[in-house]
Amino acid sequence: MTTTLTPVEREALHARYRAERDKRLRPDGNDQYLQPTGRFAHLLEDPYVPRTERPPRRDEVNVAIIGGGFAGLVTGARLRQAGVDGLRIIEGGGGVGGAWYWNRYPGAMCDTAAMVYLPLLEETGTVPSMKYTFAPEILAHAQRIAERFDLCEDALFSTEVEELAWDDDAARWVVRTDRGDELRARFVTMGTGPLHRPKLPGIPGIETFAGHCFHTSRWDYAYTGGDPSGTPMTGLAGKRVGIIGTGATAVQCVPRLARDAGELFVFQRTPSSIDVRGNRPVDPSWFASLEPGWQQRWLRNFCTLQTGGFADEDLVMDGWTDIAQRIRDRVVELVEAGAELGPDTMRRAYEESDDEKMSEIRARVDAVVEDRATAEALKPWYRQLCKRPCFHDEYLQAYNVPTCHLVDTDGKGVTRIDEGGVWVDGAYTEVDCLIFASGFEVGTEHARRTGFETVGRGGETLSQHWADGMRTLHGLHVHGFPNAFVVGLAQGANLVSNVTHNLVEAATTIAGIISRALETGADEVEVTPEAEAAWVALLQSSERGFLGNPDCTPGYYNNEGRTIEAKDRLGMSGYPDGPLAYFDYIDAWRRTGTFEGLVFRTRA
Ligand code: NDP
Repeated sequence: MTTTLTPVEREALHARYRAERDKRLRPDGNDQYLQPTGRFAHLLEDPYVPRTERPPRRDEVNVAIIGGGFAGLVTGARLRQAGVDGLRIIEGGGGVGGAWYWNRYPGAMCDTAAMVYLPLLEETGTVPSMKYTFAPEILAHAQRIAERFDLCEDALFSTEVEELAWDDDAARWVVRTDRGDELRARFVTMGTGPLHRPKLPGIPGIETFAGHCFHTSRWDYAYTGGDPSGTPMTGLAGKRVGIIGTGATAVQCVPRLARDAGELFVFQRTPSSIDVRGNRPVDPSWFASLEPGWQQRWLRNFCTLQTGGFADEDLVMDGWTDIAQRIRDRVVELVEAGAELGPDTMRRAYEESDDEKMSEIRARVDAVVEDRATAEALKPWYRQLCKRPCFHDEYLQAYNVPTCHLVDTDGKGVTRIDEGGVWVDGAYTEVDCLIFASGFEVGTEHARRTGFETVGRGGETLSQHWADGMRTLHGLHVHGFPNAFVVGLAQGANLVSNVTHNLVEAATTIAGIISRALETGADEVEVTPEAEAAWVALLQSSERGFLGNPDCTPGYYNNEGRTIEAKDRLGMSGYPDGPLAYFDYIDAWRRTGTFEGLVFRTRA
């Protein structure tokens, strides 16, 4: 594999990357976005399950599981497998599924291969239909896990947690909700998801728009017609539809909108990189031939290759493993040619592989998109991992549909919205319906993202504890917050390409700790301040686990291009030796049974 770029060409390419980034830098960073309040408060409502009144609950459970997405479901499953009962899921949606409950937009699917993304496939004996599964199948899998492990019976759906507070006298968490519930729990797990709160672009005049509008995570099928399975959206026939945003969500729904809308206008600030999807059915007889333990082997194989390691074969073979393998092969090539194995060689291998990959992605745009000006505007000028990489075989093709129009804003974003449409510089586009594919809150503080505050021992809130950045042991345990567990990626493996892998490992850890506490009659389990501080120091000792590069074009991967302060870095950090090493480390930590760093206390 050799690059075709000369040093001069490479420098010109990187200068273009810098110029495109600079065009998009803005002083307001995350503050450019709005929370859906006032005129837009309805954008947070549940369009799928009506909220019905019920009397408040006042009782006690062993474990309150906050969030019924995959984080909560796999935690519940592992607790059941460990023989823990008295579990209760509390979830804002009208059912389980989390991101997959909310995101039912047309064309929604998972970019990570089903064989590794869908958790507990082997335990539930489930065969995915396709290499990459569509959202309805993923939601059905979430429901299957809930049924198999009996997680719905005592759940509280359509219920938003308003506060979690530790009652130190009783050694119980008190969970208060918007239904007036006041539940007591020995343990709480928080699987509230990194992409939970929809945000809106703070475009001047947005609140004056008088047409129909909704956010992609609350798709209004009552207006559009159709359904998540792909039935045509007949309500859009003859309508002028605008969609703002061209991230991973828009990339998936634009082809369906282009098919069904009278006219579609896609307002673009930054193009996504669109790699090949190559979806295909999973052969059930091949699936039946897999040896027991297959999912764990696939998970490790994907994780190894995706993070630059070596493996005899690539089981998943997709765009995630492709770039990582190119970098790894380039390192080998450079070292064989005499380069020293060190940071300079690594940097060069990364840059050359990335330049090559992104050149291919831009060439694909030229090959697919017929209109030259549209093709030019759809080319991404940044490193692939600056933004969430996208994979699709119909997105670029959608721009060949005569009624699908790209409205490029040259990095500046939409200028203004008025009651009838959208302004970009001096050009006006009238629309009947405006769809916000503007993403979710990522960089804002914990309580704003989750929608509730967590009050630990002595009245300290989690926001206060994390005022100078996230501080945990393993991403799970926080000092001053006994019997509470955060279920996520940060400060653990931080494997972003396969979120559920992180969640299953966290769930396994939590189940081990809670069953040990229950078996030994411990009232409290808590990380020591020393163990928490040592873990944070370990995370800070290396840049390796850190996701987010200030040289990149702005986006939520890099705090919208603003200076990434040390405190922000902490919330984006992972185990210094990489995800696979973390999974090995945490497995060994669990197996010792001593759970070093935690204290189990029994009150007299
Ligand atoms: P993103 O935050 O990725 O995208 C938001 C989009 O809105 C960007 O294109 C942004 O442009 C654009 N935007 C914001 N403000 C303006 C403005 N003023 N004018 C014009 N455009 C504007 O949100 P998504 O919902 O697309 O994706 C969120 C995440 O969800 C993904 O990154 C991914 O992690 C996850 N996801 C995962 C999927 C999966 O397969 N597993 C599928 C879909 C989503 P700019 O880029 O310039 O900021």
